[in-house]
Formats: sequence, structure tokens, C-alpha cells
Amino acid sequence: MGDTRFYHPTAGKYIYLMAYTINEVLALATERGLNPPEWKWKPLKTYNGFTHEQRVVGWQAMHLAIRMKLIEPASAYACEICRATPPVTLQYHSEDYCNLAEHVLCQHCHKLLHQRHRYPEKWCKLVTRYAKGDEWYASLAMTGFNE
Ligand SMILES: [Zn+2]
Repeated sequence: MGDTRFYHPTAGKYIYLMAYTINEVLALATERGLNPPEWKWKPLKTYNGFTHEQRVVGWQAMHLAIRMKLIEPASAYACEICRATPPVTLQYHSEDYCNLAEHVLCQHCHKLLHQRHRYPEKWCKLVTRYAKGDEWYASLAMTGFNE
């Protein structure tokens, strides 16, 4: 597999960083005759400065990377916040859509994370319950981003 789970010391977090860039994944997919999946849902809001278009390209690259077995599906891991495993739905979460550096979150924690500025009390309750202090999700900004 091309993915590696490793501890990123400066970021103080675990990330799943692929050995491929977005462009390399897209080029490989083209070579193999695979088309990127279509985004069929409502437009995504800008998150951490990444636009809908950038977020969709990142999502497409992850989708294709899983199809080409360059990275394990998120269901191979546990939620990094609440440690849930399948049959709970697990998803990749990006804080940085330029690099295929991902976190694994269950659907519930993922939703609370993206909506943390709207429902800060729900998010704080979750973080207080699971974080011991230096987890990446415990130090996310509460403002200055959109979902
Ligand atoms: Zn979770």
C-alpha cells in the first residue's frame, strides 16, 4: 500500500499521508482509464481557505486512490476522536486539501468538527470527553473558517 500512518512531530498529530500527490493520483487514474467520481451534492463551503473546487478535487483524488488501492479505505482504521470502528461509517477528513494528508473520523465526529463554529458547545463536549491534551483536533480554530 502507498499510505503510511505516521506521527507528524511538528504538527503533533497522526496523519495518513499518501506517497502520491493529487496530480500523480489523477494522472495514474487517467492511465488506467478511471474517471473521477462526480460531486452530486450541494456545493461545499470554503474550509480552511480551500474552495469547493479544491475540496472536490481532493475528494476525487482520495476516491480514486482507494479504488487503485494506493490507500486503505477509511474503514480500515478507527475514528481518531472517539475510536469508533465499523459498522460505524468512517470517513477521511482533510485539514489541508493540497496534500493528501488525511485524518480518519466517524461520520458523527466529522459532522461536529465541520459544524464546530455553529454548535461550539457540542464540539467542546466531544473534545473534552476524548482529548487528553495535545490531540490535533483539540487545538482547531473555532472561528475564521467555514464548514
Ligand atoms: Zn468519532
